[in-house]
Amino acid sequence: MRSISVFGATGSIGQNTLDLIARAPGGYRVVALTGGGNVAQLAEDARRLGAEIAVTAYEDRLEDLRTALAGTGIEAAAGAQALVEAADRPADWIMSAIVGAAGLAPGFRALRHGSTLALANKESLVTAGPLLLAEARRHAATILPVDSEHSAIFQALAGEEIGAVEKIIVTASGGGLRDWPLEALPMATVADAGAHPNWDMGQRITIDSASMFNKAMELIETKEFFGVPSDRIEAVIHPQSIVHALVGFRDGALMAHLGAPDMRHAIGYALHWPERRDLPVARIDLAQIATLEFYAPDPRRYPALGIARAVMETGGRAGCIFNAAKETALDGFLGGRIGFMDMAGVVDRVLDAMSSDFRLSDPPSDLEEVLAVDQMARERAWAAIETRETA
Ligand code: NAD
Ligand code: MG
Repeated sequence: MRSISVFGATGSIGQNTLDLIARAPGGYRVVALTGGGNVAQLAEDARRLGAEIAVTAYEDRLEDLRTALAGTGIEAAAGAQALVEAADRPADWIMSAIVGAAGLAPGFRALRHGSTLALANKESLVTAGPLLLAEARRHAATILPVDSEHSAIFQALAGEEIGAVEKIIVTASGGGLRDWPLEALPMATVADAGAHPNWDMGQRITIDSASMFNKAMELIETKEFFGVPSDRIEAVIHPQSIVHALVGFRDGALMAHLGAPDMRHAIGYALHWPERRDLPVARIDLAQIATLEFYAPDPRRYPALGIARAVMETGGRAGCIFNAAKETALDGFLGGRIGFMDMAGVVDRVLDAMSSDFRLSDPPSDLEEVLAVDQMARERAWAAIETRETA
């Protein structure tokens, strides 16, 4: 029987993953489930699926988790180190769906057992792509992309030579503020930016969709995962979110991946790969959809895309700085300290400031160095947020 662990089990991707697992009763042995503050959900899922261990990221929630699991025989643990230890428990298939750079260390550790890592945590690739892929190679582990666009690219590339790829096009819905007048964007609130027209996702990624920081991350993720040069990767707005990505080949052919906007497709593809199995996702009725639109994103509206291009061209530590500064800028926006359109300015400023600390293109040599650069970028970002507040 296949053994499975789900990191970030209480989140949007995690819950969709558990939905697929629960549909095959007795089909999987659940090793570890992890979550954050929502220990009631975590405990309920651990009971329902008969997990070996449940881990909350927060040490002050351990007692609540223990209480909720009392009498079940399911182990309870808490904290960042416990997450890494849970990743050290062998499992055949591991879902990496913690949000943010916090997903990096557990994902890294999970690769040690040479199993399959289903990677939803795009921050891992943006922050430490080359190190993560090298770790997977070292242990003969498999990484499968779970971001819908990257799953789509992976599927379009099946059986193809990467050298025959002319371009990769990642589609973007344009987010919740797509049709707002440009002048109104600086006034957008958390509630405005946190509503998505097509996808039902966690709050952070939904706001990142409105600013297109999510798409910016995905461009970098594409470069890192597929090893395609940045000038062959582009983003296009596609309001219907039916075409998830396209791969263009040297003979002019363009292979598109279409599907309903439901993350259970990409999760289920990674779960059953290399096979295809039945999945409970809606089927596309092209005649009913009738129109698929595509247009180029306006750089004034989405400055994150331009920053991502510079980051891809620089390589090295730039991705790590970009991600940490972007996560902090988002915290600043969520906390009401900066406006929606200030986030890109913060990220730009941090990249600029840190380019005088060291050569951004120098790659970090190990995970510790990545985490140190990440920490430094967060401090710089808070400083930039304060400057903006007093400006
Ligand atoms: P979410 O906010 O819904 O869930 C995040 C999960 O991570 C929760 O289980 C939460 O408890 C846990 N978590 C939060 N902070 C943590 C910390 N510091 N330490 C350990 N665990 C922590 O997020 P989501 O939308 O499910 O996204 C998860 C990941 O998948 C992100 O990297 C996101 O970019 C990526 N992703 C999500 C979608 C989507 O449709 N939701 C699509 C593509 C990629
Ligand atoms: Mg995506």
